[in-house]
Amino acid sequence: MNRYNFHTHSHFDDGREPLENYVLSAIDKDLEALGFSAHAPLPLETVWALPAKDFPEYVAEARKLKVQYKDQIRLYLGLEIDYIPGISEDFQGWIKNTPLDYCIGSVHLVKPGPGDAIWFIDGPAEGYFKGVETVFGGDARKAVTAFYEQSIQMVMTQPLNIIGHLDKVKMHNQEKLFSTSEPWYQALVDKLLKAIKEKGVIVELNTRGIYSGKSKEYFPSPVILEKCLRLDIPVMVNTDAHHPGQILSHFEEGVKHLKDIGFQKMKTPFFLV
Ligand SMILES: [Zn+2]
Ligand SMILES: [Zn+2]
Repeated sequence: MNRYNFHTHSHFDDGREPLENYVLSAIDKDLEALGFSAHAPLPLETVWALPAKDFPEYVAEARKLKVQYKDQIRLYLGLEIDYIPGISEDFQGWIKNTPLDYCIGSVHLVKPGPGDAIWFIDGPAEGYFKGVETVFGGDARKAVTAFYEQSIQMVMTQPLNIIGHLDKVKMHNQEKLFSTSEPWYQALVDKLLKAIKEKGVIVELNTRGIYSGKSKEYFPSPVILEKCLRLDIPVMVNTDAHHPGQILSHFEEGVKHLKDIGFQKMKTPFFLV
C-alpha cells in the first residue's frame, strides 16, 4: 500500500519536535514519502503560524534532511498557506521566492469583506460561536457561506496543490447552528468542488478531527467524498500530524473509508512521480 503523509506540523510552527523526528518516525513506519507543511507566516499575530524570521531556517532544515535521508525516504518541502483576502500574502509570493515542492491551501480565518472582523473557525469552540454572533450577527448561514466563498476564491485564484480539511467549518458546529445536509449547504459544497475539479486540486481526507476527538467524522464528510468520486477528483489521506507519533494516526482507517466509498486506489499526486 502506498503510504505517504503530506500534512505535518513541527516545532517550527504549532507542532511538537524537530523535523528530523518526523523523518525518523516515517522511516520507522515504512512511509515512502513525507511532506513538511508548516503554517506559512502571517502578517497578524497567531499562536500557530511559523514566525517569518524562522522561515529561512525551516527551509534550510527541510532541504538538509531531504539530502541526508534520500536513500531511505522521499521528503518534500511544503507549506500550509492560509488564504485571507486582503491580508495573507499571495501563494505565488511564497512559491516565487522559495521553490516549494507543493502547497496546501487552507481557510482557518474567515474575513467576509474589507473592514469586517475575522472569524476563527479553528481554536476553542467558544471563539467559533462568538464569531458567528459578532461577525455575522448570529446568522450561521451567512457565516458558512463566507467560509465556502473564501475557499472557492482561494481555489480559483491561488496555485494550491491540495485543499486542507475542506469542510472544517463543521467541526465545532456539530449540527447545532446549521445542518450539513441542508440543500443550501450542499450547494456551497458543490460550487467548491466544481472549482476544485476545474483547477485540478487534490482533496485530502484529513484524519485529525477524529483522532484529536474534535470531530465525529473525517474532513470532508462521506457525502462530500462520494461527490469527489463521482467527479473524479483525486483524494489522498493526510493526518495533519502535530507530533511524530501522529504520522499514521487513523491513516489505515482513512484508506479503508475511501475504499468503502468506492475509491479503487489512491491517486498518486503529481509531485510524487
Ligand atoms: Zn489546517
Ligand atoms: Zn495543518
